[in-house]
Amino acid sequence: MPETTSCNLCGSHDAKRLFTLRDYRFQTDDIEWPVVRCRACGLGFLNPRPDAEEMGRYYPPAYFERRGSQTARYERQAGYVPGPPGRLLDVGTARGDFLSVMRERGWQVEGIEPARRAGNPHGLIIHRLDFPPERELPHADFDVITAWAVFEHLRDPAAAFAACAALLRPGGRLIVQVPNLRSVYSRWAQQEDVPRHLHFFTPRTLRRYGAEAGLRLKRVVHTTDLFGGSGRGVLRLALVRTTGGSQAQFFEIWRTPKRERFRRWPVLATGWTMASAIERVALADPIVRALRISGQIVTEFTREGCRSAAPPNGG
Ligand SMILES: [Zn+2]
Repeated sequence: MPETTSCNLCGSHDAKRLFTLRDYRFQTDDIEWPVVRCRACGLGFLNPRPDAEEMGRYYPPAYFERRGSQTARYERQAGYVPGPPGRLLDVGTARGDFLSVMRERGWQVEGIEPARRAGNPHGLIIHRLDFPPERELPHADFDVITAWAVFEHLRDPAAAFAACAALLRPGGRLIVQVPNLRSVYSRWAQQEDVPRHLHFFTPRTLRRYGAEAGLRLKRVVHTTDLFGGSGRGVLRLALVRTTGGSQAQFFEIWRTPKRERFRRWPVLATGWTMASAIERVALADPIVRALRISGQIVTEFTREGCRSAAPPNGG
């Protein structure tokens, strides 16, 4: 059964509906999921959302395929983790392909991945745990924790931020990559992967999440080289809608090869090609990054210094 929830960041129940999406990627069912935004703090979230038990069926075997064939992306991810090598923990590490790249660069690496089916082809230390973990890891005090395309899937991001703070050494860094709700990509081109994405962040809400956990937001990079994020598709979606088409039809045309597109929708296909050309120029990757409106951001937090000395509490 779908469940309703309050805002994970501030607890408010006052939220505004932004748009609805279906599972267009795997077409599990026809349920329309509302993406809402908290009126108090601005956090976006799915509400109602699938309950924990029914979530499993939105992750079909196809979701786990094609991992490991993206070495170029893992190398680019490594570029977002500067500094001398140390101890690194990757949350939601899947097969550990990114960790394997980091190990080659001299890092001592560990991962967390609940799905046993993901496998461990590189022979790494991978803890079979959910995140946040229900028990302590043997050796905390990590220099860096990374989470690539993970936090938007979590039911309780606040607990995840707190867990990261607890696992980092003072001065250690947390690097979180998530979709950015404040973007053409997320808000207007509606490229969010619903209902697998449960939370929709912005630099502002991420800063507050960090602050609540004792993590200071140091850097926000608008990236398009990991998972896209340009928002191209937004004009084509508008075109389909003005001609009376639905969002579902937009995704169907999107997936159809060009030749077949002209055969099935001869009039619309011409407009589609023109809109696509305009998008390629207006939403070129360098422009999107320069305007800081990418649908994908990499954020870097630092754990505040030692807080072991608790302030005197009277008495
Ligand atoms: Zn809120």
